[in-house]
Amino acid sequence: SDSVVAGVARALQHADSVRRLEVRANADTPEDAARARRFGAQGIGLCRTEHMFLGERRKLVERMILARTDAERDQALNALLPLQRQDFAGILEAMDGLPVTIRLLDPPLHEFLPDHTELAVRIAAAEARGEQPDPHDVELLDAVNRMHEENPMLGLRGVRLGLVVPGLVAMQVRAIAEAVVARMRAGGSPEAEIMVPLVGAVEELRLAREEVERVLAEVTAETGVPLHCPVGTMIELPRAALTAGRIAEEAEFFSFGTNDLTQTTWGFSRDDVEAAFFSAYLDKGIFATSPFETLDRDGVGRLIRIAVDEGRAARPDLKIGVCGEHGGDPESVHFFHAAGLDYVSCSPFRVPVARLEAGRAALPATEGSDSR
Ligand code: PEP
Ligand code: MG
Repeated sequence: SDSVVAGVARALQHADSVRRLEVRANADTPEDAARARRFGAQGIGLCRTEHMFLGERRKLVERMILARTDAERDQALNALLPLQRQDFAGILEAMDGLPVTIRLLDPPLHEFLPDHTELAVRIAAAEARGEQPDPHDVELLDAVNRMHEENPMLGLRGVRLGLVVPGLVAMQVRAIAEAVVARMRAGGSPEAEIMVPLVGAVEELRLAREEVERVLAEVTAETGVPLHCPVGTMIELPRAALTAGRIAEEAEFFSFGTNDLTQTTWGFSRDDVEAAFFSAYLDKGIFATSPFETLDRDGVGRLIRIAVDEGRAARPDLKIGVCGEHGGDPESVHFFHAAGLDYVSCSPFRVPVARLEAGRAALPATEGSDSR
């Protein structure tokens, strides 16, 4: 009814007036970005780019990763560039004037390669008919076998892929930069930020960052439009948290990826939380709720506090947020407030709840708030 709606609106207004945490949303399409904005998101804290490499673009991605020659790879990257530019243009338009943190490609590799079994079956079927299998299939199977990983979630993911596939980071950064320039020329105020995933060592970030800066300078020289996009990193591996002071020297912002940080801190697979032992752990009270749902303060939280302290000691103006699932969990929001983060980022639908909880967390001695 009207009075309920008015009550919620008043509560949100009040929360917005007292909260210190900014609330952003995770979105990777213009539609989601627009929805996030309607829910009051103050920016996009995580724009994942993985889905932009699936569907009809799969063939190009296969060619990019499995290319036999530099020319073949460059051709695939050149074909992907205008598509990526369009992806980013739509999101920057929907969020005009607000920050949009675009994360460089972070695959588990197996999702982007052709299916091993499908290829093997096709080859075997041809042989069974007494025919020569398609040589392209044979070559692909060979390449897929060479790149096979037993644990893709611990494999060629995140910044690792960007460092191993020449031109991939440059293509994505160029697409971002060109979308920014186009938007500025149309009179808009794009605020793109570039985020490097799954960094464990400052050297990885340094190499990726050099590539980012090189391309930004290139596009600036070509267009005459001065570009400055903040470059930052996800903190989602224990080693990144423990070496945050050094990583901060190369990062303008940190964003905690608590999904991967929970996975790697506990050694629990985030894709197998339905596993039998997990519910047994809940039954035995080893944890009261899944650490993938409610932030584990003692382990993951401790790493977050270390990273915040070391990061800010090295770079006092370091901007720090979180963009894992916990960013929209009410109890976890209180922890992030207490830990001194600047923002939480969550799914668009959870933005109002995050705003309310961030407001409650900012009130002194509110029930459920945490001053640890
Ligand atoms: C995370 O790991 O918490 C994160 C936000 O990244 P993704 O879920 O895409 O791995
Ligand atoms: Mg992650």
